Amino acid sequence: MTKLVCAECRHENEAERIYCHNCGERLDRSAVSAQKKAQDPQEVHRRLQKMLGPPNMARRNFFTVSKLALAAAVVAALVEIALPPELPAPTKAVPPQVDLDLENAAFYQKTGALEYSQDQINAYLAYRLTSKKTALNKPLLTFVRATASFRDGACTIGMERSLFGYSIYSRTSYQVDAGAGKISTTNVGGWIGRFPIHPAIMRFGDIIFADLWSALEREHKLLGKMGAVSFHDGGVTITAPAR
Ligand SMILES: [Zn+2]
Repeated sequence: MTKLVCAECRHENEAERIYCHNCGERLDRSAVSAQKKAQDPQEVHRRLQKMLGPPNMARRNFFTVSKLALAAAVVAALVEIALPPELPAPTKAVPPQVDLDLENAAFYQKTGALEYSQDQINAYLAYRLTSKKTALNKPLLTFVRATASFRDGACTIGMERSLFGYSIYSRTSYQVDAGAGKISTTNVGGWIGRFPIHPAIMRFGDIIFADLWSALEREHKLLGKMGAVSFHDGGVTITAPAR
């Protein structure tokens, strides 16, 4: 406790005194009131702290539950990402010469409709991409295989890559729109593992498949010259351009 020093006799008086206990002189109390005022903001601050925190139980529970739900969603997504999808099994079919067939159809009008089964296309992909593996390998990511699966109206391209011995699967799905004599494709979604990716995001995710597209650039260009490409369950029909 502060003492009030008398200006007259220098006697130290208790803080609550108004007159000096020794000489009866009126004491200067301005120091005491100033100190009281200085304490006030601290008091206000303490009351505010009490009002705002610590968080009450309902608030704390809400955040705990939210964090748990978020963690569960993240774990579920990671599990989905890690799960291998059902890709077409490696095939023993004899690879057809798809590139030559397409060339003949595009430039020499030698063939009508080309018909390939899903197995044949996968055999071709395996054969064609073996020589391009070095171009498809990225630091840490080793190219394993690419697959195609067909169903009515859509084609899904799958890619298996390996990271430290763990397989990472990505798939992208396309629809073919043949309009005004030009073939164009629309992405209808994709997956990483079994985790679905919205088509709008997959359009940007195409970077995942960029290496594959450049490895198959020749086939891609030739397909663009065809009259029509139609996917059906287990196969694809490619129609030569009309002359
Ligand atoms: Zn005094």
